[in-house]
Amino acid sequence: MKLNIDEIPDEGVSIVATSSQDEWLNQLFKKALGDRIGDGDSLKLDLTASLIGSQVECLGSFYYSIHPICARCGSVFCLHEDLPLHFHYVSAADTQMGRHQKREEEINIAEDEDFSIYEGRSVDLDPMLYEQLILAQPTIYLCKQDCKGLCPQCGINLNTQACQCVPTPKVTPFDALKGFKVSK
Ligand SMILES: [Zn+2]
Ligand SMILES: [Zn+2]
Repeated sequence: MKLNIDEIPDEGVSIVATSSQDEWLNQLFKKALGDRIGDGDSLKLDLTASLIGSQVECLGSFYYSIHPICARCGSVFCLHEDLPLHFHYVSAADTQMGRHQKREEEINIAEDEDFSIYEGRSVDLDPMLYEQLILAQPTIYLCKQDCKGLCPQCGINLNTQACQCVPTPKVTPFDALKGFKVSK
């Protein structure tokens, strides 16, 4: 999705897209979260891009549903997310002239805010949107924070059933020494 800087009106431009209707967003969704997308899952984007001086500010949200696999119990579950988006594009011309520092102060970009550099008169939103989606994913997915997982012995899903297994004590090399009698 490319944005022509010269066509951004003073009040900003609104970009609303959904993966079920907009192929570019569907491609982005698949590239970022392909193995977690189930039937009926979708990604929606609602973004407003505004021009502040030579800088493009983007504010909005991603709304999506995916079906990841729980790292503990192995079940596939539905995850809905509402991901706020806030990032900027800074003109390459400004950074080359060493004015980037000044601009940051002027427009108050917080240090932890994401920004990217654009060249020419257009901005490609895809790489930043892709990155935002990837960075929002957890290292592991859990169907719920206190997922009990599977019984290591019988394999039952402990979230839905209880089992009669008695936990076996861990076997260590020192166990061989138990019952060892020292003869005098
Ligand atoms: Zn689970
Ligand atoms: Zn069990």
